Amino acid sequence: MNCELISVGTEILLGDILNTNVQYLSKALASLGIGVTHHSTVGDNRQRLLDTLETAFTRCDIVILTGGLGPTPDDLTKETCAEYFGKDLYPDDRILEEIESYFKLKNVKMPESNKKQALVPEDSIILENHNGTAPGFIMEKDSKIIVILPGPPKEMIPMYCESVEPYLKKFTNEIIFSKTIRTFGIGESSMSEMVADLLQGSNPTVAPYAKSGEALLRVTAKADNEQQAEEIMKPVLDEISHILEGYIYGIDKNSIEHATVEL
Ligand code: ATP
Repeated sequence: MNCELISVGTEILLGDILNTNVQYLSKALASLGIGVTHHSTVGDNRQRLLDTLETAFTRCDIVILTGGLGPTPDDLTKETCAEYFGKDLYPDDRILEEIESYFKLKNVKMPESNKKQALVPEDSIILENHNGTAPGFIMEKDSKIIVILPGPPKEMIPMYCESVEPYLKKFTNEIIFSKTIRTFGIGESSMSEMVADLLQGSNPTVAPYAKSGEALLRVTAKADNEQQAEEIMKPVLDEISHILEGYIYGIDKNSIEHATVEL
């Protein structure tokens, strides 16, 4: 199952905010064994969002969107996704009550515009928001799935963990598990040449990349569970440790500073 992440928000395109949602979701989905093959970002614009959805479903089975669930007219993710799937929106009394009590709890009068957040696409699964007012949604049509999550990470992450991950688990029985080998004192190209044979493998895969001041190798395995992934990786990790002896300062370490302090 392939997934595309669509971040909605002109703020992201303008560079006003850093798109941390895609980083979080990409990692979380990989650990579930769902391949994220594309990231797209689109401003708060109905037509461009429709076009982005159209393109996304030519290459993926599931599209997860974040942002644009707020109460203002430029928040149009839910409306546009419903339009894309040809679904109507209807007001949901229970969600409206929850939004009203959220404002009551904060001792603030609910603005009229927040009523828009109680509109629900027909036949959708409603995802509760315990940290804000906008619920999320899962919509299914034919073999396509759209998941809509709020933009603020403090709302999006709990909603993903509580509702989306359990939903997605039924589509996958594999996990993708990675370890990062960190080296110092060798360049990316020399390191790659030394482990060239291992770069051809398919499970685990071994991929080199460079960060400021260091070269890294990411070893990634697909397996039924973490223990099996560790077993698949072990011979390759051992071989790399042997070939790059003297250059490796750690596996899955945060940074060379961290490793130095530990030492
Ligand atoms: P709200 O109900 O607060 O309006 P929303 O679902 O409509 O939420 P946006 O209006 O798109 O979300 O974004 C609200 C805020 O959430 C942004 O100002 C930003 O701080 C954060 N945010 C949105 N998208 C992202 C993202 N992709 N990565 C990190 N933070 C984000």
